Amino acid sequence: MARTEFRKRGGRVSLDKIPTEPPKGITKKNARERFAALGEELFELQDALWGAKVNSVMVVLQGRDTAGKDGTIKHVAGCLNPRGVQVASFGVPTPEERQHDFLWRVHRHAPRHGEFSIFNRSHYEDVLVVRVHGLAPNDLWKQRYAHIEAFERLLAAEGTIVLKYFLHISRKEQKKRLLEREGDVHAAWKLSANDWRERDRWDDYTAAYEDAISVTAAPHAPWIVVPADAKWYRNLVVAQSIVETLRQYRKPWKRRLEDMGRQARAAIADYRR
Ligand code: AMP
Ligand code: MG
Repeated sequence: MARTEFRKRGGRVSLDKIPTEPPKGITKKNARERFAALGEELFELQDALWGAKVNSVMVVLQGRDTAGKDGTIKHVAGCLNPRGVQVASFGVPTPEERQHDFLWRVHRHAPRHGEFSIFNRSHYEDVLVVRVHGLAPNDLWKQRYAHIEAFERLLAAEGTIVLKYFLHISRKEQKKRLLEREGDVHAAWKLSANDWRERDRWDDYTAAYEDAISVTAAPHAPWIVVPADAKWYRNLVVAQSIVETLRQYRKPWKRRLEDMGRQARAAIADYRR
């Protein structure tokens, strides 16, 4: 599957060299079938995560305007039991948020044991939009890489599985999506003139993303670059990557459920004596 994962700090990230389109040979129909199977497996894994309550999952979605953050949430989170999922969207900081450190608003949405948090944008905006538009002094935002790194290490040490996705669309596809939305009276509400202003800074964002991915990639908090020009392929890649990660926890979660089950049975047997 064409996706590029970064699991180690300091790797070279050249977004221009990573495809935005699905690989040849995979069809939409085939992808839909695989997605459905993955969705069922994800649901089953979520049940074990929920019961075992030793881990949690933080899914960070980043990408340019129209890259498909909302669509990914709709489709991938749609496979999950809503009881155990929280979606948090991070926009322009409120006056209150501005009076705190940049992680304050993010940390409150970190998932509880047993649950998923899906981030529509995230703490990474503070080294992306903030850098591109000079919203904080250089020496301040540059320190944030280290803070982010420490934050994600803290989460991982306490049981959070951190997965970070960059939804990678081409400049051409973005233009097409912006114009399509503009032409559809029921979709135009999603747009703002700002989307075009941001598009003008394409290369600055590329540089900001490449640095953020390179500096904050870690084995416990990998970045996955997702070819996102085709929505059906993007959904498949994200679902597959989450499932492949969680599969590694299936055995320990099931063991924990068995332990809990034995304890519950013993307590009931005690009561009956
Ligand atoms: P949307 O995702 O379309 O709802 O837009 C949210 C907007 O909030 C985007 O333009 C982001 O760049 C902006 N945003 C998110 N986080 C920050 C931040 N920390 N500082 C400034 N702008 C931000
Ligand atoms: Mg927007």
